Amino acid sequence: HQLHAAELERTFIAIKPDGVQRGLIAEIVSRFERKGFKLVAIKIVVPSKEFAQRHYHDLKERPFFNGLCDFLSSGPVVAMVWEGEGVIKYGRKLIGATDPQKSEPGTIRGDLAVVVGRNIIHGSDRPETAKDEITLWFSPSELVSYASKDEKWIY
Ligand code: ADP
Ligand code: MG
Repeated sequence: HQLHAAELERTFIAIKPDGVQRGLIAEIVSRFERKGFKLVAIKIVVPSKEFAQRHYHDLKERPFFNGLCDFLSSGPVVAMVWEGEGVIKYGRKLIGATDPQKSEPGTIRGDLAVVVGRNIIHGSDRPETAKDEITLWFSPSELVSYASKDEKWIY
């Protein structure tokens, strides 16, 4: 059946400064793209520490919060919005467990990262946070709706 882009689920994915520094942008983008998800927004930015604190506000009581925000604001981050059926939950599956030591091989963190403080990628964990994070990182005009040539076979 016909599905319109606006009906599809969206999630916020960010390649953290360690992933950018290590040259993993294309590797990470390609895993989401090959799966069949659609990239609807992308930019590279160095977030301020205050912006990082807003992004991670849910974690402000955690002992690693300050170091985490210092790290996220320490260099370029590739911010993206990916769209597709089940993309929030399955995006987390592609990413793997928070601690790369516990991430399965085949996942992004399992294949490409070693320690929890340098786990190269962020992904929204549920619909409410996906919505909040997309709104925090992007203005509506930065989100692009378009038909992908494969869509009629994917869905
Ligand atoms: P996730 O990124 O998998 O959603 P959380 O939201 O729990 O994980 O934590 C956000 C980020 O904080 C993690 O990706 C990781 O970079 C960092 N972090 C989480 N737990 C720790 C920890 N125990 N020590 C250091 N950094 C941590
Ligand atoms: Mg999280």
